Amino acid sequence: AAIPNNLEAFWMPFTANRQFKKAPRMFVGAKDMHYTTADGRQVLDGTAGLWCCNAGHGRPRIVEAVQKQVAEMDYAPAFQMGHPRAFELAARLAALLPSPLDHVFFTGSGSESVDTALKIAIAYQRAIGQGSRTRLIGRERGYHGVGFGGISVGGIVNNRKHFGTMLGGVDHIRHTHDPARNAFTRGQPDNGAEFAEDLIKVIQLHDASTIAAVIVEPVAGSTGVLIPPKGYLKRLREICDQHGILLIFDEVITGFGRLGTGFATEYFDVVPDLITTAKGITSGVIPMGAVFCSSKIYDAFMTGPEHMIELFHGYTYSAHPVACAAALGTLDTYEEEGLLTRASELASYWEDAVHSLKDCPKVIDVRNLGLIGAIELEPIAGEPTKRAFSAFLKAYEDGLLIRTTGDIIALSPPLIISKAQIDELFGKLRTVLQSNI
Ligand code: PMP
Repeated sequence: AAIPNNLEAFWMPFTANRQFKKAPRMFVGAKDMHYTTADGRQVLDGTAGLWCCNAGHGRPRIVEAVQKQVAEMDYAPAFQMGHPRAFELAARLAALLPSPLDHVFFTGSGSESVDTALKIAIAYQRAIGQGSRTRLIGRERGYHGVGFGGISVGGIVNNRKHFGTMLGGVDHIRHTHDPARNAFTRGQPDNGAEFAEDLIKVIQLHDASTIAAVIVEPVAGSTGVLIPPKGYLKRLREICDQHGILLIFDEVITGFGRLGTGFATEYFDVVPDLITTAKGITSGVIPMGAVFCSSKIYDAFMTGPEHMIELFHGYTYSAHPVACAAALGTLDTYEEEGLLTRASELASYWEDAVHSLKDCPKVIDVRNLGLIGAIELEPIAGEPTKRAFSAFLKAYEDGLLIRTTGDIIALSPPLIISKAQIDELFGKLRTVLQSNI
């Protein structure tokens, strides 16, 4: 199908899709593991959309739940009214979470979840008499969405350099990624837990009594699939505990089965104080996010002297009924099909498949964990991203959707992928990598 001439006028300028101009592409349909292109081709989804469609596409339980809810009640004002789906969903989510995380705040996206968690962290510290704790700590190469909170604690300089003043009082500790020692490591690297000690340096610099929280992605996705070394997250937890600092896991990507557990907290056996999620909560069907915290945190600021009325925070679309219904249909699908643990069943097959590409030309590292993978390519001098983008286009032409970030190819297929489809995915990728990219 032709692309309307005026598309650029009303759509292009304000999306992140800068590459559309170079190579216009449109999807017009999606079912299970595949997208359909405007010219009728099937494209295998190697990225679950944007790390979100964990249950695959067009899944009947979710479609049905959404249709039913729209017909029954489209919207309820979240500031004054509850509705049944919100309570059902909160209870279902709490059952998936490790103790003591048992409260949920609904948002409309990952970026909103991040802002919400940062605010809850500061509000909690204040409610327990630690009002001087307002500093926040993120990491270099951290990605936490594109709100001002997210770009401030995020570690991507390009995402913030044009936007003036960021959130004050933010430090960034080093990321754990150490290609010099860990290239081609299978799963979690043995080396690098000592990166957590960077947090001690910040504490020495600013004094722990000024720090509210540290936010990390258990596995960083958008900056190239950076896998935490063994012991790293546990050490961060210890340091935070010693110094009264809250630990926030940004599980927007790792939540809902990506590593073969409900959440990464279970996979790494480290329980943070707050978890941010989005994406897989509705399998990408409707925008939604959620922040989880314990009763201790919830009670402190909901019943403390500065009740939520003063700490005003909430979104028009918090706990949107249709989003809640989509999330309930998604949880049904995950549970009925065992999808939250499926990544653990496929993990070693997936690992072998990812590592089968390490002898391809221009591949300088491969990484994997659960059903997430990365192929890092040697950048072309002066033209970072060019090689990976060329791989993206070739893969797309050959019927495979991959995601690229810099010169890294990131993979995170829907959790319904079969072994035959894993073979197909890596077969196509091998052909692409062996061509002249
Ligand atoms: N946090 C993480 C870890 C993410 O990966 C993302 C999105 N890729 C976000 C936050 C932002 O989510 P959203 O795009 O839904 O705002």
